Amino acid sequence: MAKSGNKMKRKFENTPCLICGSSQRLPFLIVPNRFEPGEKFTLVQCRKCGFVYLNPRPDSQLIGKYYEDEQYQPHRLHEQSLLDRMYKFVRIWNNRYKRYLIEANIRKGVLLDFGCGGGEFAAQMSRAGWQVSGVEPAPGPRQHAVEQGLSVKANIDEVTQKFDVITLWHVLEHIHQARELIGKLQERLTDSGILLLALPNLKSSDARAYQSNWVAYDAPRHLYHFSPVDVKRLCAQYNFQIKEYYTLFLDTWYNILLSRQLETMQGGNFLTGAVKTKWTAWRATIKETIDCFDSSSIVYLLQPKS
Ligand SMILES: [Zn+2]
Repeated sequence: MAKSGNKMKRKFENTPCLICGSSQRLPFLIVPNRFEPGEKFTLVQCRKCGFVYLNPRPDSQLIGKYYEDEQYQPHRLHEQSLLDRMYKFVRIWNNRYKRYLIEANIRKGVLLDFGCGGGEFAAQMSRAGWQVSGVEPAPGPRQHAVEQGLSVKANIDEVTQKFDVITLWHVLEHIHQARELIGKLQERLTDSGILLLALPNLKSSDARAYQSNWVAYDAPRHLYHFSPVDVKRLCAQYNFQIKEYYTLFLDTWYNILLSRQLETMQGGNFLTGAVKTKWTAWRATIKETIDCFDSSSIVYLLQPKS
């Protein structure tokens, strides 16, 4: 019989660099938890390869409590604040654009949306004639997706078939066992299949403008902060090649708005902040149409090397 004191211990852990495995690191930036701005976390930079990540980080048990904040939009399914409505608007248009990106490469087939949340994107693809499955570990959103008639598992190990398309929309940066996951996804991709990874861009102009208040640092939920060079290095280790880079341009506006909100909460000046927001947003949008490496989020389209 289990004793009451036999709970699994929740703690912070040190972790080596995801890209090169080195444990040598330098301080990079102190960032707030945007829902508890008094709570600070440390981002470090790998001394060997330059990759930026959260260290120490909550372990896979402790991290659960950081998703419980009621303001966490991806898990708010029925709320109606102004930000919720904006989030929904961005999500609807992004989902249409994501479908367009996929169908420009593969017309129809079998798709896995890993980290599918409430299943909005998966449902859209299903309606468009795709054979769709999802994986979502969070019980609330998973239940919501299942209620829409989708086949959604809690864990990748429960998925055994192969897919033409696997998507991770802003997911990999949340995963403790990210290397293990990439290996498992690779096993489930057909030889001519594509893997789409959407990730915040550490080298974006809004990351530079807002520094510790850049919302996509999202500590401690985001464990890694990729630049295109990091993704390229990681892909090479899994025999993937990056075929295309795309932007999710609405993410830029949304991230700027939330970064500005966080900056004001941290004592930033409202007036200069408003001017900076406009300038940053316009500059980012103009620059990213010319150079997607400058945008807030990048979608990487990967294919197995032949
Ligand atoms: Zn490294």
